[in-house]
Amino acid sequence: MKSLWDDNAAAQFPGELGLRVYSSRLLGRETALVLHGGGNTSVKITEKNLLGADETLLYVKGSGWDLEHIEAAGFSPVRLDHLLKLAKLRQLSDPQMVNELRTHMTRATAPTPSVEAILHAVLPYSYVDHTHADAVVTVTNTTNGLERIREIYGDSVVIIPYIMPGFDLARLCAEEYARQAGPKTLGMVLLNHGIFSFGATAKESYERMIDLVTRAENYLAQHNAWAIPAATEKSVMAPLRRELATLRRELSAAAGSPMILAMHDDAASLAFVRRKDVVSISQQGPATPDHVIRTKRLPMLGRDVGAYAEAYKKYFNEHGPKAKEPKAMLDPAPRVILDPEFGVATAGRNAKDAAIAFDIYAHTMAIVDRGTRLGGYRALPAQDLFDMEYWDLEQAKLKSGGKSPMFSGEIALVTGAASGIGKACVDSLLARGTAVVGLDINAAITSLYYRPDYLGLVCDVTDEKQLTDALEKTARTFGGLDMLILNAGIFPASCRIEVLATAEWQKVMCINLDANFTLLREAQPLLKLAPRGGRVVVIGSKNVSAPGPGAAAYSASKAALNQLARVAALEWGADNIRINSLHPNAVFDTGIWTDEVLAARAKHYGLTVEQYKKNNVLKTEVTSRDVAELAAEMCGPLFAKTTAAQVPVDGGNERVI
Ligand code: ZN
Repeated sequence: MKSLWDDNAAAQFPGELGLRVYSSRLLGRETALVLHGGGNTSVKITEKNLLGADETLLYVKGSGWDLEHIEAAGFSPVRLDHLLKLAKLRQLSDPQMVNELRTHMTRATAPTPSVEAILHAVLPYSYVDHTHADAVVTVTNTTNGLERIREIYGDSVVIIPYIMPGFDLARLCAEEYARQAGPKTLGMVLLNHGIFSFGATAKESYERMIDLVTRAENYLAQHNAWAIPAATEKSVMAPLRRELATLRRELSAAAGSPMILAMHDDAASLAFVRRKDVVSISQQGPATPDHVIRTKRLPMLGRDVGAYAEAYKKYFNEHGPKAKEPKAMLDPAPRVILDPEFGVATAGRNAKDAAIAFDIYAHTMAIVDRGTRLGGYRALPAQDLFDMEYWDLEQAKLKSGGKSPMFSGEIALVTGAASGIGKACVDSLLARGTAVVGLDINAAITSLYYRPDYLGLVCDVTDEKQLTDALEKTARTFGGLDMLILNAGIFPASCRIEVLATAEWQKVMCINLDANFTLLREAQPLLKLAPRGGRVVVIGSKNVSAPGPGAAAYSASKAALNQLARVAALEWGADNIRINSLHPNAVFDTGIWTDEVLAARAKHYGLTVEQYKKNNVLKTEVTSRDVAELAAEMCGPLFAKTTAAQVPVDGGNERVI
């Protein structure tokens, strides 16, 4: 591991706290050191308080911040002398500790200090850096891990046996530091947990961290336990979408609300799940139910998830740090599922959580693999790295107490999503916590957003294979399908029937009608498995009830689609799939309505553009967003008991009314 320190870059971060921000970000850039909020740093600074007296503060990373993106505001200033007094107590419960930390800060708006704040306080150095470095954790998670750490580091580190983070760990570290530290001490290794480095300056502490971790990496390389093998065989190409959606349904039932399930069949994941010893190496210890192993394809899930739930309850009752209040715990659904055939699937309450679960597990797989080759991977007796990382994360979220958005854990597919009403639907659904797959023939769809809950796929909806591929990709990325927004369509130039070419008629039918028929048919098995029931919203048209001259193909296609939706509502009601339609009219903020076209149409009716836009009963303008918001709400609880409804979004049209 190389030092990323750059004196010129560091100079942009003035002051002791500035340099603390700079080197924390350097640590945060290395995923082999810290992942998703893991790891923490601090600096001790003496300042004048309001009364003019000198006061030494521990600026320690606050919860909710990750090192890679931390700013000065992410460090919580806690009075050091109080922390040092606390460290001498015989005992302190977690809630008491959090209370002491919060009430001894000098900035009321600062985030809650890290639970490792007291540990940072007792180390007598200005700068203290702490990471969960993969290489160090790998070495300590093996048989003879302690001996190996001694071999690597000699007297340059203090060694701490494993205990849960919290007050007891801080006290133990204070005692062991006093007992073991000498003139050569550069850091502290916490077995099965991570490593601390410290120094007089930000640079010294940071570079000691890099040096110490590099020593562990070199040790692994020397013992032929560094390079990770990749799978040579391909993953399963056959459709998995129904099986994945079935698994997701089971998971969601165990979790008590919809879950995202993300499948990973990259070479490293496949190599891991296909190891002959995958069961023994990944299921160590009497109770480490962080994941479920599948040995066959997915359908027989239910029983296993139930068994898992039992193990989970038992586990937290015995070992959980907050075992007194099991209801406040994580739900019992597994977050990692290993299948030798399809790879690694990770689950979460939203796409981001599922992605984080995979990031953490990818590092865990590397640690297990290297540890095995180093002479025997040995997890913690009761709680392994995955649990520890994930636990912190979930606890932080439980504490924040935020209400989850309406469609958290649910998945929607929107056609024609690159622009206009389709794009507005993507936005309205994302805003409600949905993971969204956008389809469009326009390649811009893939770069609409870069975020874990969005997937854009180029798709010609008239191509059946491309549609089924899109559904397959949806299920592999997010686990299934809950909502389908049928929006893609074309509005051809005005043309009277007597001169309408057959090819033009067929093209409109093909895109506006046939493609939606195919997609409905292919999506039905997934919608049927949606944890809260499937929902379809059809973006229809005013033309269904009030057709216009020159729009024969368009009006006929939308009317047929309307009828198709009504029949689907009849047929699929028993499967708890709701199908409702929206009939927008005169939505002008879409791609087809350029300023010139708008001006020309307005002139045709003898109106100004402004009058033309509001040419309806309510004299109001209808926007893409108006349509999209209603489409999203039609998927929600307000419409839970409604199917086959047809709602106009047109400001009121005299011909429709
Ligand atoms: Zn830690």
